[in-house]
Amino acid sequence: MIVAMQENATEEQIDAVIDAMVEAGVNVHRTTGATQSILAGVGPTASLDLRQFELLAGVLYVHRISSPYKLAGRGFRPEGTVVEFGNGVKLGGEQVIVMAGPCSIENRAQIFETAKRVKAAGGSFLRGGAFKPRSSPYAFQGMGIPGLELMREAADAHGLLVVSEVMEISQIEPMLPLVDCFQVGARNMQNFNLLRELGQARKPVLLKRGIAGTIEELLLSSEYILSGGNYDVILCERGIRTYETATRNTMDISAIPVVHKLSHLPIVADPSHGTGRRAMVAPMARAAVAAGADAIIVEVHPNADKAASDAAQTLFLEQFDKLMGELRVIAEAVGRTL
Ligand code: PEP
Ligand code: MN
Repeated sequence: MIVAMQENATEEQIDAVIDAMVEAGVNVHRTTGATQSILAGVGPTASLDLRQFELLAGVLYVHRISSPYKLAGRGFRPEGTVVEFGNGVKLGGEQVIVMAGPCSIENRAQIFETAKRVKAAGGSFLRGGAFKPRSSPYAFQGMGIPGLELMREAADAHGLLVVSEVMEISQIEPMLPLVDCFQVGARNMQNFNLLRELGQARKPVLLKRGIAGTIEELLLSSEYILSGGNYDVILCERGIRTYETATRNTMDISAIPVVHKLSHLPIVADPSHGTGRRAMVAPMARAAVAAGADAIIVEVHPNADKAASDAAQTLFLEQFDKLMGELRVIAEAVGRTL
């Protein structure tokens, strides 16, 4: 940490700040310039609320220079994390992985047709919600476990993996045999009890960025899962709430290189929720692959206009086929495969 003192700070004020830092277990190195003193602190600053030093008399500002997360930081695993799934699929390696499927599992015909086409187009995962976090309590809430059983059957029939959202702790156990990867939705990014419990599960977790979550908060949330001993965490950029209203959310493409710099965890891009508009899904998917996303998760449906949820952002299967061809070219251009 760095504490910059005000130009007119007295020796007594500087000593009081040094004492407070030492008391907090921090080693202090003082540099005195012509007009200002700077106090550099080395020690267990990750667990400190640095605002406590900002309150002290004579302090101009306080900066954190080490990351507040330990296990999610790039330094923990400089080579990067590759999450391996049962059938040889590796997420975080050279291949850009594609996850596709409906927003919600609706019925047998829908999920089987989708699975067939996702596989044929080169996808690795079938996505689909059985437990849906809907803004309105009157909107379709998902099929629950019977829906997940259908998706498992469809995925197995076509050699796909399954990713699906878990909304609460009690759903973890019944979902365990039915999914290959748990999805934590944007609304639950800071459901710390759920995250802790997933730290005990021995299944990968796809953690979505909250609607108003900073990248630092996303990484701190991942730390809850990692610190439980579950190192198979995949982060997901799915758009954030900004003042812009032309799109449902603002897709933060820059989060992809930022996460790669700060963390060893792989990052997935979700251009469906990231834009909320069908016409903008493909351009943002292409941009995400160009920016280095390790995977893409996209909503597709055989009858997209009639999807029970998120129809406006759902691609028809033919549009998905076309997008896959484009993504393959872009992946190759940035030294990846797809
Ligand atoms: C979803 O994947 O369908 C979903 C609800 O996503 P998010 O949590 O990002 O809104
Ligand atoms: Mn959705």
